[in-house]
Amino acid sequence: MKIVVVGTGYVGLVTGACLSEVGIDVVCIDVNEEKINNLNKGILPIYEPGLDAIVERNSKKGRLHFSTRAEEAIVDAQVVFIAVGTPPGEDGSADLQYVLQVADTVGKNMNGYLAVVTKSTVPVGTAAKVKAAIQKALEQRNETFEFDVASNPEFLKEGAAVEDFLKPDRIVIGVETKRAKTLLHQLYDPFVLNGHPILCMDIPSAEMTKYAANAMLATKISFMNDIANLCELVGANVNEVRNGIGSDLRIGKRFIYPGVGYGGSCFPKDVKALIRTAAEYNYPLRILSAVDAVNDDQKKVLFKKIHTFFKGSLKGKRFGIWGLSFKPNTDDMRDAPSLVLIEALLEAGAYVQVYDPIAMEEARHSLGYKITYAYDAISAIKNADAMVLVTEWPEFRLPDWQLIHDSMRSPVIFDGRNIYHADEMQERGFNYFGIGIQNGLNNNIN
Ligand code: NAD
Repeated sequence: MKIVVVGTGYVGLVTGACLSEVGIDVVCIDVNEEKINNLNKGILPIYEPGLDAIVERNSKKGRLHFSTRAEEAIVDAQVVFIAVGTPPGEDGSADLQYVLQVADTVGKNMNGYLAVVTKSTVPVGTAAKVKAAIQKALEQRNETFEFDVASNPEFLKEGAAVEDFLKPDRIVIGVETKRAKTLLHQLYDPFVLNGHPILCMDIPSAEMTKYAANAMLATKISFMNDIANLCELVGANVNEVRNGIGSDLRIGKRFIYPGVGYGGSCFPKDVKALIRTAAEYNYPLRILSAVDAVNDDQKKVLFKKIHTFFKGSLKGKRFGIWGLSFKPNTDDMRDAPSLVLIEALLEAGAYVQVYDPIAMEEARHSLGYKITYAYDAISAIKNADAMVLVTEWPEFRLPDWQLIHDSMRSPVIFDGRNIYHADEMQERGFNYFGIGIQNGLNNNIN
């Protein structure tokens, strides 16, 4: 079977590489020539654990190809995956221009039956628009090739994308015909030998499932951040509260960690897009609007704590930031909470020194030369008035506290992910601030 994946970003590259890993012939297409040239030289555009080895192995075996020429690749493909970006438009709705460009290219170049499968996150009704765009292009050519459209939302997590793709919790496919269902089962059966399900449904339900999943996860995060902020006010410790509620199987332990707000390329835009879709149907999604608003505020929470501690006088103060990417194990800086914090510190006249194990290059694209990029974690906190942990990379978990204490101008820690223990930090002589815990409150009495 020959597959074309259009859009070679976080989703498209992982999809193409992992499909080739099970023996399928894949061409990954992108309009970004530099990206494709680099991939042809074995240079990956993103950091994703385990991806480089899969790309290298399958490129060498001749099963994985990279090209800018969609027209050529589509001609003898059986399945085309659309994995291009769907960024937010000005009103928060998903911008479908790239998805529909691909549909047009497919219609202009297909040469026989094709299944056109949307993997990008798109609002309900998009498959119908893709279908219409292909149909229109075919009519302009006076051709009548059969084709199916299908929805196959992607649930991979950046930082664990390869693992998620190869061993998914579930695969969702939305189809209109038996033919498309059979094709997608053929493609995906090798990935569910672990017994996890392929959930086959109608297309609107599949499209909605992706948004509902991200909206639910974002809701858990904002809910917990709201509770964390209240914990601080009433003198409770959110770490204890989290354990207390997470042990209830109906709630579960995952995704209830308070922090500095969710970021990345998916939750913020998908929450906004779903709110927008609902508004189009005159149904205000009240819970999700609150989730969005809480998150916007939560991204400012570290700055507020810093501002309060230094009594509003941040001019000339030096801050060492640990972690820039929106979460560990990725270099993705899109909508990262670190950006909001850094901009606010700079605005207040502070100096900012940053360190991230992987995202430094990406950070340069967004932040330029306004900040100092440190060689390592210790250099980032040298002579700092405070260290601020924003992203909980594993290498920050057990640092050399004595060296840190000796390197800083004043021993103050703002821990945006609650990865350290307040009592331990105080014993080591630090002024410690977490999220949802009062300064001086023990994290762990036992
Ligand atoms: P990305 O920005 O990393 O990659 C998109 C790629 O598409 C870019 O390389 C861009 O150059 C290319 N592109 C744009 N228009 C094109 C065209 N006409 N032809 C060929 N290539 C084109 O985006 P991403 O993070 O991979 O996300 C892609 C989609 O998948 C989005 O809808 C996103 O919401 C969804 N999604 C993302 C994730 C994630 O974790 N990143 C997870 C699940 C779903």
